Amino acid sequence: MRLLEERIRKDGHVKAGNVLKVDSFLNHQMDIDLFQEMGKEFARIFEGCGVNKILTIEASGIGIACVTAQFFHCPVVFAKKSQSKNIDGEVFTSRVESFTHNRVYDVIVSQKFLGPQDRVLIIDDFLAKGNALMGLCEIVKRSGAFLVGAGIAVEKGFQEGGRRLRSQGIRVESLAIIDRMDEEEGVVFRPQP
Ligand code: 5GP
Repeated sequence: MRLLEERIRKDGHVKAGNVLKVDSFLNHQMDIDLFQEMGKEFARIFEGCGVNKILTIEASGIGIACVTAQFFHCPVVFAKKSQSKNIDGEVFTSRVESFTHNRVYDVIVSQKFLGPQDRVLIIDDFLAKGNALMGLCEIVKRSGAFLVGAGIAVEKGFQEGGRRLRSQGIRVESLAIIDRMDEEEGVVFRPQP
């Protein structure tokens, strides 16, 4: 998606350790006009798939998921991150290793909000090693819901997440795919049709 790529070129910053900082428009301060265009694009890509629930993970997926949900007219459920195993009620859980925070946590979704009647689109801001997304896919599977696919804002194509998920037959659609990046050269995107 050209608009997102242009914005990353203009306002994104490549940091040491393969981290792209986009906190001025994507995951701290949020540009809602940009989110609107991203949501529209996800709606175009997944049109006709019968999506009736969007699943994301706190915190930075929530904004994009909510704007996207306006196009699908469906609820958003966000998985909660917890380091504790003592949670009240019936929940689906999965264990995730964090790329940016270098720790392991449980992701949790209440069984009240996900089940066999749901056709789920997962939305997230980044796909790197794929651990966060794998955790969410695991939860969808446990719930008996149907996984339509995953819509990602920025995929770091030089990390293994995209390959891992697609090799399991999961439909992953990313609005911008980064082929390589470094502090001097900046970001190089994969050409997309
Ligand atoms: P994964 O589990 O795919 O390795 O990482 C996914 C999560 O890590 C994303 O939800 C995102 O919050 C964070 N993340 C991974 N890579 C980056 C990055 O380059 N920049 C930022 N800002 N967050 C990232």
